Amino acid sequence: MNALVISALWAWMALALVLMPIIFFKTAPYGRHTPAQARFTLSSRLGWCVMEAPSALVVLGMYSLTPGRDLSSLVFLAMWELHYLNRAFVYPLRMRGGERPMPLVIVASAFSFTCINGFFNGWAITRGDYAGWAADPRFVIGLCLFFVGFVINQQADHVLRGLRKPGERGYQIPEGGLYRFVSCPNYLGELIEWTGWAIATWSLAGLSFALWTLANLLPRALAHHAWYRRTFAAYPRERRALIPFLLAL
Ligand code: NDP
Repeated sequence: MNALVISALWAWMALALVLMPIIFFKTAPYGRHTPAQARFTLSSRLGWCVMEAPSALVVLGMYSLTPGRDLSSLVFLAMWELHYLNRAFVYPLRMRGGERPMPLVIVASAFSFTCINGFFNGWAITRGDYAGWAADPRFVIGLCLFFVGFVINQQADHVLRGLRKPGERGYQIPEGGLYRFVSCPNYLGELIEWTGWAIATWSLAGLSFALWTLANLLPRALAHHAWYRRTFAAYPRERRALIPFLLAL
């Protein structure tokens, strides 16, 4: 079983590398990039819940069914659920403009992704040998990075929510916090979180998730950034897409 899962994980990472250049040229059609003629859709609010719920439930289920877990695995479960219970069940309820239609193809592909990714990461934290791991520097550094990323992501999403009154769907230039430096600090925070997760779990599954997050969010940040520049003549010129001070990104 182990060898099979590890081979599948290598293939999964290869797929992320193959898809990344495609995502650069074909921006995922949701949010501001939703085509006007999208036919089969759900509300974004429901879409986010359906897409993200497997992450929370698959890992929780695998953890509950595994006997003899140690403290580090429990901390991993808490980190994972902190992020995903929020993303699947709290974020959709709080989002503004959640009535915007989201194409079913996005919901279906993200649902498949979160099932597979949840399985790999649930497998890593329940099957990994983490005895004595709580004192390892990789665990401590990874944990700190994860929480720094989580706070950045939450703060950035909070700023975006504040740009709309209930019922509004329009866009404004976000200001404050890390928006002074980049167009998508929510994506930056997410990337830091899963990099921290990869280091803390020191697992192939964690690495694959960090890679997939980069493959999804770097092209999307560049697409958002270009969209802001096209849409707002007064968009701050010094602002970058994803990485502060880095000219191209
Ligand atoms: P966006 O930044 O595109 O949008 C987030 C929310 O804010 C949406 O409700 C959006 O509305 C609204 N919004 C965005 N910009 C503005 C603006 N300028 N003015 C007013 N409202 C705005 O993020 P995503 O929807 O792509 O992602 C949501 C979360 O999910 C993020 O935290 C992201 O990090 C995470 N995510 C993680 C991925 C991963 O691979 N780990 C992949 C994708 C997302 P609208 O929908 O109408 O555009």
